[in-house]
Amino acid sequence: MQYDTQTSDTGAAVTAESARLEPHTLYVVATPIGNLGDLSPRAQAVLAGVDRICAEDTRTSGALLAHFGIRRPLVALHEHNESAVCERLVRELQDGAALALVSDAGTPLVSDPGFVLVRAARAAGLPVVAVPGPCAAIAALSISGLPSDRFVFEGFLPAKSAARRSRLRALAHETRTLILYESSHRIADTAQDLADLLGPREVCLARELTKLHEQSVVLPACDLPGWLREDANRERGEFVLLIAGAAVEEPAAGLDTVQLLRLLLRELPVSAAARIAAEITGLRKKELYERALQLSQGDPDA
Ligand code: SAM
Repeated sequence: MQYDTQTSDTGAAVTAESARLEPHTLYVVATPIGNLGDLSPRAQAVLAGVDRICAEDTRTSGALLAHFGIRRPLVALHEHNESAVCERLVRELQDGAALALVSDAGTPLVSDPGFVLVRAARAAGLPVVAVPGPCAAIAALSISGLPSDRFVFEGFLPAKSAARRSRLRALAHETRTLILYESSHRIADTAQDLADLLGPREVCLARELTKLHEQSVVLPACDLPGWLREDANRERGEFVLLIAGAAVEEPAAGLDTVQLLRLLLRELPVSAAARIAAEITGLRKKELYERALQLSQGDPDA
């Protein structure tokens, strides 16, 4: 990794002037998920320097900005008005404004508003710049000890029990680490669903990250409801749930696909050989069929 000394500020404080704000630009700024110390100096400088700040909840963001002595005009942008205000905000950007987009906590657009505005700004050919920072999903993943090389973010599961269980059933085969958000209202129900449907699968529960009562635990899904019941405080706050991926079904040990197809082709026609090879290896039948066809025609590259 090489730091870019051209765009980095090396002094103690990043000032609004030194943040090098560009006109016509939408800055997507991550804000703390609890600990105010996580608002980066660059985020502070950008927020202090833009013409207006689009905020999910102007009271929440107003309090954050006041804490840092930042006074900029705020405009509400939430899921109920995003489409309606978007056109006006894009016009402001086209007229030369620099705007910031923040949500109540963490990274905008991650289970938060902003998608419509970012998409509209891009469609209008306007620059959209990230000011990265906290994100509960990534923070939890980074401490979970679950495989982090490949992961899927699913956000919130459906609120209704039947829909939630059906979604979880569909996700149970996912081989990548699965990241979910959950609220205190539903954590007990979701934990029970995970226990019922995933049994011994490893789960990490991370709550109140970066806050006073921060806690994270890794345990089998079937033990999660009991762990929550041990202490009423454990159901309080904000949660990230991470679920270890399902075990990848490996092709039978030592079996080489070409070898297998050659053996099957001794006794079977091409399509039957491909079908059985697909069942044994879990590979796609169409590709195996093409390979089997080549082999049956004596293609040396097959
Ligand atoms: N945009 C945010 C982000 O980047 O993480 C997420 C916003 S989403 C509306 C709020 C959910 O994120 C919470 O219900 C919880 O699942 C998760 N979350 C937010 N802050 C958290 C924290 N400090 N600890 C654990 N989970 C948190």
